[in-house]
Order: sequence, then C-alpha cells, then structure tokens
Amino acid sequence: MLEIDGSRGEGGGQIIRSSLALSLLTGTPVKLTNIRAKRKNSGLARQHLVAVQAVAQLSDAKVNGAALGSSQLAFEPGAVKPGAYEFRIGTAGSASLVLQTILPPLLLATGPSTLVIEGGTHNPMAPPVDFIIRSYAPLIERLGPRLQVQLDRHGFFPGGGGRVVVHIEPVAKFSGLKLRERGGILSKQVRALVANLPKKIAERECHEIRRLSGWEKNSFHALEVPAHGCGNAVLIEIASEHVTEVFVGFGERGVSAERVAASTWQEADEYLQAEVPVGPHLADQLILPLAIAASHGEYSSFRTLALTGHSLTHLEIVQRFLPVQLTTNEVSKGIVEVLFAPQHDSESPATI
Ligand code: AMP
Repeated sequence: MLEIDGSRGEGGGQIIRSSLALSLLTGTPVKLTNIRAKRKNSGLARQHLVAVQAVAQLSDAKVNGAALGSSQLAFEPGAVKPGAYEFRIGTAGSASLVLQTILPPLLLATGPSTLVIEGGTHNPMAPPVDFIIRSYAPLIERLGPRLQVQLDRHGFFPGGGGRVVVHIEPVAKFSGLKLRERGGILSKQVRALVANLPKKIAERECHEIRRLSGWEKNSFHALEVPAHGCGNAVLIEIASEHVTEVFVGFGERGVSAERVAASTWQEADEYLQAEVPVGPHLADQLILPLAIAASHGEYSSFRTLALTGHSLTHLEIVQRFLPVQLTTNEVSKGIVEVLFAPQHDSESPATI
C-alpha cells in the first residue's frame, strides 16, 4: 500500500484528492496520513469526505477512516464503473474540486458518464465552475475525451446549493499538450455576479476594473443570478488563441467592492504582463492530466508564472503514482516551463 503524507508541501486537500484520483486510475491502494495537516481545520472536511465517498462509490472501493475530521484514510480501489452518478456535498464545499477528483478515472473509463454534483460552484480557494467550463474543460478535450460541464444553479459560500451537470465521453489514452504560447487575445470579458445582494456591488466592481484596465465598456457585465444564499463573485475571462484563462475574486463583508475588483484585476494583469499561456491555478490543475498523458507515453509542456506551493506539491504527488519524469526550467525571471515525459526516456526533457 502506497503511503502518502498529507502534511507535505502545501499540506491541503489537493494531496488527498489527487492521491484518490490516481489510486483509482492506477489501481494502487493508498494510505493517506496527516490529512490536510497544514489547514486550520485539519482532517477531512465535508467536500473531501464527499470526494472520498464519490471515488469509493465509483469503484466499490474498500475504505477505512472516511469520517468528518479524520486525519487518516486507507483506500483500496476496485475497477472503475462509468455511469450516472449524483453527489450532494450538503454544504458550500466545492463541486469543482469533487469533480476534479473523480474526473481522471472517468475520462479514461470503459464507457460514458453523466454526473450531477450539488454544492458550492463559486467559493474562495477553489476553481469557480466558470473556470472549469471555459478554461479547464477545453484543454482536457484537447487530450482526447469529451467533457461537457453545465452550470445549472450558482452556489456561493456559505449558502451552497449550486448544481453542476457533467457529461463525459472517455478515451483509452490521453494525447499530450503543448502550451508554450498564448497566441493573440481574442476576447476579454468581466462578469460581476451578485445573488440576493444589491446589483450596485457588481456595477462598482465592473467600474473599478474598467478604470484599471482601460478595456471597452462592452466587455463588462453586472449580473444578478439566482442562488440559495447571498453571494458576489467577479470573473475576468481572457480568451486567447491557444487557451482561455479565468480569474476570480469574491465579495466579503468589510471589504469594499473596489478592493475585491482591484485584487482580481491584479492577478489578471500579472498574467497579461507575463505573456504566458497558463496562469498559476491552471498550472496546478494541468499537472495531473498531463502527467497521466506522460504515463501513456505522450510528451507535454506549458509555460507559466512562478510555481505555487500547490503546483510544487502536485508535481511531487503525481510522481509517487506514475512512471513519469516531470521537469521545471526557469526560462526567464518568474517564467517557468514545466515538461512532462515518460520515465526513462532517452529524449531529453529539455527538447520536448
Ligand atoms: P487545496 O487548497 O489543497 O484544497 O486545493 C485547492 C485547489 O483549488 C487547488 O488545486 C487550487 O489550484 C485550486 N484553486 C484555488 N483557487 C482557484 C482559482 N481562483 N481558480 C482556479 N483554481 C483555484
């Protein structure tokens, strides 16, 4: 049984989710220890527990330690069973993160799947569903499978109650992906969303990003959306020839709409200035699928900004499960290329 120490590196939920995904995909039993040791509320929180239950259900796995707050888990997967599944997180825990846990095995399963996931769709510290739809899913489709994600209902923190429907057409193996250039920018859109809050908040966010960016008025949309509780998110979407990136900020009590807008713009602006195709969160999320492609003999690479703690930890975790060689090169100050190659290959990763 492979033992994964959940306190390594970033020490958060991603180590757990990716280990479960890879355990299921490779049929490797895992023992997870020190789960989310570096988070304030360490152990399995609701979202992680639902992710554990989901991978278990998908494969009739043998599981020990699947309880709220648990800091240890033993997981012995069975064969992956594609099909129709519904998962209810029951809190605002991220539907995107539960989806990302079960996605890799289902993208490579023996038949199609349809998933309904209820929970948070727009919560801090997780990919908003818009990011999954606009940025992540199109890149996954370039690896071969079909991945359609639909947002049926928004769910903000803490109200939750969002709903996402996903359709997957798997493939037997992934293709590689090279993302060195962003290509020309095709469109820039800002959508500021409010649920059960004054529309003025969204308008102020749009106004502030317009002031900072100088973008055309028709790029900005202040929208009221239905949801169970209150919520506010501002999404900046930059579609380029080879990739679409989505940056998000969340309204918080005691923080002005202008500050929320400015810090979201800052992230988007850093990305634009660096002229790389892949932003920091997308880099982190691409590591798992591209490492899987490398385990299928396919080379991949992308350029991004300096790697985050999440990305560095993720590079370490995937190499525990997969026979791959992952290399990072700083190509210029603050710009990194990540290279994915099958292990023990004679081709030098630097030439991929
Ligand atoms: P963890 O903190 O370990 O539970 O992992 C959180 C995951 O959410 C990581 O994969 C992050 O890259 C991802 N994430 C957090 N914020 C965003 C964001 N704004 N856009 C996309 N992904 C995000």
